[in-house]
Amino acid sequence: MRIGVLALQGDFDRHAKALARCGVEAVEVRKPAELADVDGLIIPGGESTTLLKLMDAWGFVPALERFHAEGRPIFGTCAGLILLARDVENPRQFSLDFIDVGVERNAYGRQRESFEAHGSASLDGRATPVEMVFIRAPRIRRVGAGVETLARHGDEAVLARQGSVLVATFHPELTDDPTVHEYFCSMVRKPRAGAAA
Ligand code: GLN
Repeated sequence: MRIGVLALQGDFDRHAKALARCGVEAVEVRKPAELADVDGLIIPGGESTTLLKLMDAWGFVPALERFHAEGRPIFGTCAGLILLARDVENPRQFSLDFIDVGVERNAYGRQRESFEAHGSASLDGRATPVEMVFIRAPRIRRVGAGVETLARHGDEAVLARQGSVLVATFHPELTDDPTVHEYFCSMVRKPRAGAAA
């Protein structure tokens, strides 16, 4: 099994290291054709408007639409979540609409641009502690009916899944806690039937 990390901008290297800790081979993806060789994809944090420009320049949008339609799992953290969401505000911008959530960018305000928290995730029916690092993070303001909330911070969803798509508003790759990457690796190993629905 090989998992790609979109390596256009942002902290892709830390995701590759987190995957290595789970014993999974990480492949840096810089061109759409490289998606052919991976079973799942991580879209890292960074700056979503810059990522969008680079994705557009390289023709990633149709390639990612095919990847998703085939049911291959995708995990977006922070800016990656912003790209995968259905609606984006502050400001409005294009997004791929692979998961039915509405997000607000940079939604914690200046006082709390970056912070850490301990939370609890519900993964495969088990409550699991998770470490969370938030950096100029978006907030999930709306969760669609088909979306499972896997972890909350306060009463807001911060880790969510719809079929083959997993998103986090925080950065699990910046902690030593492998929980979220292990969960994504398990999604790639055992895709759910009809996962792209
Ligand atoms: N603030 C960034 C954006 O809106 C996301 C920050 C991150 O990925 N750490 O694109």
